[in-house]
Amino acid sequence: MKPFPDIYVQSYQVEVFNLLNNLTCVFAHPDDEFLAAGLLARAKRIGYKTHIICGTNGERGRLKGQNFLGDKTEDLVTIRNREFKKSSKLLEVDSLKYLNLPDNKAAQWNLYDAVGELESILLNIGPSIIVTFNKNGGNNHPDHIGIHNITVKAFKKIASQNYKLYFGTLFPKQYSQANNILQVPPQIIDKITIDDNEVSKIIKLSNDEYKLKLNVIDVYRSQFPDEHGLYYKMPLKFLEMMAKYECYEAFDIEENQDIEIVNML
Ligand SMILES: [Zn+2]
Repeated sequence: MKPFPDIYVQSYQVEVFNLLNNLTCVFAHPDDEFLAAGLLARAKRIGYKTHIICGTNGERGRLKGQNFLGDKTEDLVTIRNREFKKSSKLLEVDSLKYLNLPDNKAAQWNLYDAVGELESILLNIGPSIIVTFNKNGGNNHPDHIGIHNITVKAFKKIASQNYKLYFGTLFPKQYSQANNILQVPPQIIDKITIDDNEVSKIIKLSNDEYKLKLNVIDVYRSQFPDEHGLYYKMPLKFLEMMAKYECYEAFDIEENQDIEIVNML
């Protein structure tokens, strides 16, 4: 049998390499992806395929500050799905998937099924980098913590040297100076932050990435308390502090093993 010509082998290898350049974010609700909007934008710019897997359809979210439950549930799902698609279009995300878990009912989730479903989606995508919430869910939201647990379990099942898992973290301690504006009690901040030495990667967004991130936040008008939008009310200094940086903690698959710091992007 004739060997494949070199050029064939090379292009095949290039294809495999590209296939592994995937960033997949696993979050709980349509709008959570803003946490990693800068990373998603940057990954796309340098040629990664990007994917978002969303745990719920967000059917128990707010509609302009009101609880939007009961009969109108379907409408909210339609609205949030449209917002999610719009956000993903801005970020040029390659695929969106839902796990269809009940929103705001993490205690009722079938974790076994959810892990299995996520595992098969991840194997299909073949992500090189997976990003999800940290163990506090960023803000102690039970759905966020549930998604963290599901993602860690699925990751452990598929883990290989080709995959890296990172936890996006919302309030690391270097942002503690923002507390004056946030007015969150220190004990709560302590609960939802991680130690500085646990942060593996801090990404400072470029101006374009920052603007894109604000546009992504702006898409989710159904979740705004009023028509002026959430972030218009934030002092610029605070907004920049919170949105211009993204922090990621590398997951250590074996306890007591030194955390491997990789050059993510
Ligand atoms: Zn959320």
